[in-house]
Amino acid sequence: MSVMRSVLLAGSQNAWLRERAPKLPFVRRAVTRFMPGEQLDDMLRAAATLRAQGIPAVYTRLGENVTDPAEADAVATHYHDAIDRVHAQGADCEPSVKLTQLGLDLDVERCAAHVVALAVQAHARGTYLWVDMEQSAYVDRTLAIVGRARAAVPRVGVCLQAYLHRTPADLRAMIREGIGVRLVKGAYAEPADVALPSKADVDAQFFRLAQDMVSDEARRVNFRAVFGTHDTGLISRIRAHAGTVGAPAADCEFHLLYGIQRDAQLALAREGGARVRVLIAYGAYWFPWYMRRLAERPANVWFVAKNLFG
Ligand SMILES: Cc1cc2nc3c(=O)[nH]c(=O)nc-3n(C[C@H](O)[C@H](O)[C@H](O)COP(=O)(O)OP(=O)(O)OC[C@H]3O[C@@H](n4cnc5c(N)ncnc54)[C@H](O)[C@@H]3O)c2cc1C
Repeated sequence: MSVMRSVLLAGSQNAWLRERAPKLPFVRRAVTRFMPGEQLDDMLRAAATLRAQGIPAVYTRLGENVTDPAEADAVATHYHDAIDRVHAQGADCEPSVKLTQLGLDLDVERCAAHVVALAVQAHARGTYLWVDMEQSAYVDRTLAIVGRARAAVPRVGVCLQAYLHRTPADLRAMIREGIGVRLVKGAYAEPADVALPSKADVDAQFFRLAQDMVSDEARRVNFRAVFGTHDTGLISRIRAHAGTVGAPAADCEFHLLYGIQRDAQLALAREGGARVRVLIAYGAYWFPWYMRRLAERPANVWFVAKNLFG
């Protein structure tokens, strides 16, 4: 891992910075590149703009590691309202939740109850519930809760991280259990005994897992294969591979983050065939999430610096 990436990821966990940096006007200006605003209405407006370009969305309200059960309950209520509002507008936007924002650190049973209830409501409204993946210490609990939601309704998916050594086995289990997967490279700082330290190895593992996700076996069970990446070379390789194994282009779905690789988002939408969605994040608690975006591409730090003078 590069020094800059390590420093930025350490900064994402720093309470002093988390308290102060979001108040600085130039940091607030810079973050607008990655999120349309802090309110659900900002997300809905951004989703409408994307929809006009033929791109459906996924949405997430930023926040993690809540320490007050009432806050976790309020997050669940927010998502119930959001699912209803999105449905009322006839928008094609799927929710994606973080379990530590729904109280995973505080009460696993209560968190599971929130996830099952949200999955049931999402299903009733004709949409799909996604569950993000956080640090490696949460993977077992996250997959167990997702399994409970899947036992209640079929439209449930989880994010798996290609950098983790355990992910090939987890992916096989998800395919077997009929749980959709959004495969990503992985955004957190993890030790080498848990995650692949070299980016080249992560990229290679991503492509190997992608092959499993469009295999005959996966397609036989209508597995939902989603690739969450901005790596246009990898996207092309996955699409080419899917073509060679006879997987219809629509069986490969790509999710990208709002504001990143906009040209690739539009190109995927224009080409038809392959499906594309954009994940729109919103909310007041954006600092750790934003620092992870900077860590993914340290050149983004210059963008923040430019806003200091802009
Ligand atoms: C839809 C979606 C959902 C995600 N959900 C999770 C999750 O639940 N858990 C988790 O651990 N991680 C999640 N991630 C983050 C993921 O793990 C990676 O950290 C992130 O996507 C960067 O990797 P990459 O695949 O884009 O490839 P990279 O090889 O890192 O980047 C490829 C190219 O994309 C561009 N790019 C990538 N990131 C940025 C950026 N921040 N700013 C500007 N340009 C950039 C650059 O041009 C770069 O060269 C998610 C990512 C996406 C797209």
